[in-house]
Amino acid sequence: MSDETVTPMMAQYLEIRDRNPGALLFYRMGDFYEMFFQDALNAAEALDIALTKRGFHQGEPIPMCGVPVHAAEGYLLTLIRKGFRVAIAEQLEDPAEAKKRGYKSVVKRDVVRLVTPGTLTEDSLLEARRHNFLAAYSELREEGALAWTDISTGELRVMPCPLSRLGPELARLSPRELLVPDHLETELAELGSEAGAATTPLARASFDSSGAEKRLTALWQVGSLEGFGSFSRAELSAMGGLVDYLHLTQRGNLPLLRAPVKEMAGGTVQIDASTRRNLEITQALSGGREGSLLAAIDRTATAAGARLLERRISSPSRDLTTIRLRHEALAHLLDESRLREDLRDSLRRVPDIDRALSRLALDRGGPRDLAAIRNGLAQALSLSARLSGVPRLLSQAAQGLTGHETLVDQLDQALVAEPPLLARDGGFIAAGYDDELDETRRLRDEGRGVIAGMQAEYAGLAGVPALKIKHNNVLGYFIEVTTTHEEKLRARPDLFIHRQSTASQIRFTTLALNELESKILNAANHALELEKRHYEGLKRAILDLAGPIGVTARALAEIDLCAAFADLAAEGDWVAPVVDDSRAFDIRGGRHPVVERALRRQGGQSFVANDCDLTTGASPAIWMLTGPNMAGKSTFLRQNALIALLAQAGSFVPASSARIGLVSQLFSRVGASDDLARGRSTFMVEMVETAAILNQADDRALVILDEIGRGTATWDGLSIAWATLEHLHDVNRCRALFATHYHEMTQLSARLDGVENATVSVKEWQGEVIFLHEVKRGAADRSYGVQVARLAGLPVSVIERARVILEALESGDRQGKKSTALIDDLPLFRAAPPPTAVTPAAPSQVEARLAEIDPDQLTPIGALSLLYELKALK
Ligand code: ADP
Repeated sequence: MSDETVTPMMAQYLEIRDRNPGALLFYRMGDFYEMFFQDALNAAEALDIALTKRGFHQGEPIPMCGVPVHAAEGYLLTLIRKGFRVAIAEQLEDPAEAKKRGYKSVVKRDVVRLVTPGTLTEDSLLEARRHNFLAAYSELREEGALAWTDISTGELRVMPCPLSRLGPELARLSPRELLVPDHLETELAELGSEAGAATTPLARASFDSSGAEKRLTALWQVGSLEGFGSFSRAELSAMGGLVDYLHLTQRGNLPLLRAPVKEMAGGTVQIDASTRRNLEITQALSGGREGSLLAAIDRTATAAGARLLERRISSPSRDLTTIRLRHEALAHLLDESRLREDLRDSLRRVPDIDRALSRLALDRGGPRDLAAIRNGLAQALSLSARLSGVPRLLSQAAQGLTGHETLVDQLDQALVAEPPLLARDGGFIAAGYDDELDETRRLRDEGRGVIAGMQAEYAGLAGVPALKIKHNNVLGYFIEVTTTHEEKLRARPDLFIHRQSTASQIRFTTLALNELESKILNAANHALELEKRHYEGLKRAILDLAGPIGVTARALAEIDLCAAFADLAAEGDWVAPVVDDSRAFDIRGGRHPVVERALRRQGGQSFVANDCDLTTGASPAIWMLTGPNMAGKSTFLRQNALIALLAQAGSFVPASSARIGLVSQLFSRVGASDDLARGRSTFMVEMVETAAILNQADDRALVILDEIGRGTATWDGLSIAWATLEHLHDVNRCRALFATHYHEMTQLSARLDGVENATVSVKEWQGEVIFLHEVKRGAADRSYGVQVARLAGLPVSVIERARVILEALESGDRQGKKSTALIDDLPLFRAAPPPTAVTPAAPSQVEARLAEIDPDQLTPIGALSLLYELKALK
């Protein structure tokens, strides 16, 4: 079929769609965004909306669906969550303009914005208390870098990042979208999706480092970037990729990006993805926020404070000075409870300044954003007055709160108290701010008063008391009577001019009404014009001060977080931890913040506080924890990791005292958790994760291993657990807590200096086990597995049979048969000594085969079959 059959509108649609591949096109038609062809089929299914047809294309009906513009945000959110990217094509002129050009002219349209997971700014599309990061990874000459930004707040950061660190860094930031050079897409897509990010490939040109430098200097309008610090070519390239993408998606409206901050590798505690999952730092294992550490400790009063809290507990500091400054400020607000409550009262009235500012910069804001800036800055001023004689962190923040008096005054005079969301309809500029506006509004409103008088007059003239003057967008003002009274008005053709008849109503107008209408309309339009001009002026005044306003927003978040931590400490009776340069790890009366809160809510048993002392004077220092299932081993392990994390994030800790030598890395693993989704066998996952710890943990690491070796046959499992512990002790030489149900391992404490036994005590009473949840030094006497199985509801017959078997095994044990014999015979295969001590020897077959392997190239399945192959070698 020839092109002539394509309507001009369809031609425009197809042209715009072809210029925006990979995105679902929202094509604006009046009050709707319409979708056609495959887009319509996809959207109708994803949004569960009706699919219709409109016209023909190449002989086939065109599938179509649409969403009303006023409800578009909700639909957008659904589409973005389901992994779509949406290009929004707007009408760029008034349809009347197009008509003027001729009968067949189509309204000009083009894409004004590409909506993707990493570039959202609307409040309804964002979670207020979470960041929405867009990240970009680039590699140049073997050197990698990661840059990330939250365009809804303007923050921009960059760091050197070798590929091996990318996974953990993505886990820390959990960006919504990851930009990568297209040649790396296949390699990096899995890493991205593991961190929950959509991976978007960009052409190499977007990451070109010299082009990047140009884009960046243009963005901040500086001659060179040196003023911000020195950046490697890879870092420039990653930031350049980000900015290029923002140009692409925002179509000329660049967000307000702050000067880049370079993060140094090593500034924060290194925590990898599975440790984060396992410790449930920002997300519970079930997936949501509820049940996570973040949810349990969040007392912040502002959204920006909540986002800062998430950043801090995702990246605890390794800098003693920083940590101590935070603790010092917290201690002050803990003591000064009046001041704290005062500050928190004010903070509750602070709106989200960052996000309002960013919407204004992107021209997606409204009068409410102006008011948010006004209210936020006004609260900041009143807060600053209360912060005298405070510790350094707070006094520094206080300095950032002032200096906006003139802007606050201007906004105060200009804006009404509670402005509407949209500038479009006016009504946000306060009376008394602009004489001309006041006068125009008076004319408009008086006109409306005259209409009421006119209605009474015409009702009298026509003899129809029910006559009404009404208004709609199509007809403007009109006189309306029911059809029964039609003749009475028709009788006065000199006065009443017929406009429209409906089934039951007749509508008329008069010359006087027309005249009055245009007067009102002119005045209303003029008032609107004036208000819009003021809106632009106020917006400019704010954006000119975007830098200092950003400083204030950050200061408010810092104060909020400090007061929130103090509130938490006051309520939960938390103490100031001593963090120093030693190897100490001495927690007295420690508790698990999440489990304790859950128990308190249930109102039953209260949490049993426990000590943990890994301070042996020398490294390594390992506690081996035994005890039956359900005794509280996992809880104890995790609580100690969380206490270290909280302390270095700047919080106090749930304990009666705590002394912690700076922790550099935190590792936590649980034996054999199911991870079938990633296509690896559970045992394989366990081993891969354990290997990562043994290869990476340094002597300042804190390692938590829970039931390692559980995922395989008993003797295999015991051997692996045994060897792992030895490696931690001899090679990693770190602080560690190691829970196991292999009682045989308690013997290790006698052979390794740095290992001590501890157990979670239980009592047996009338054949039942009672959990005391008390951690004591020493080894558990027995396992109580059968009793626990009974609690779990296993059939009585099975329990009884298990008891008999256990007794038989145990009596065999006492007679020195089998298992103890086996243990004593078990070769103590100590872990390999550090590389320097290795005496070179001819490589064995296994070693030779190993040397050929490039682990980076291995798939999980490949690794598994390789293991079989290695095992088969002698
Ligand atoms: P294990 O790892 O030994 O199987 P868990 O740590 O999973 O045991 O603990 C089992 C349950 O015991 C938890 O769900 C918690 O409710 C309770 N619990 C654990 N530790 C304590 C404690 N110190 N005080 C009170 N209850 C506890």
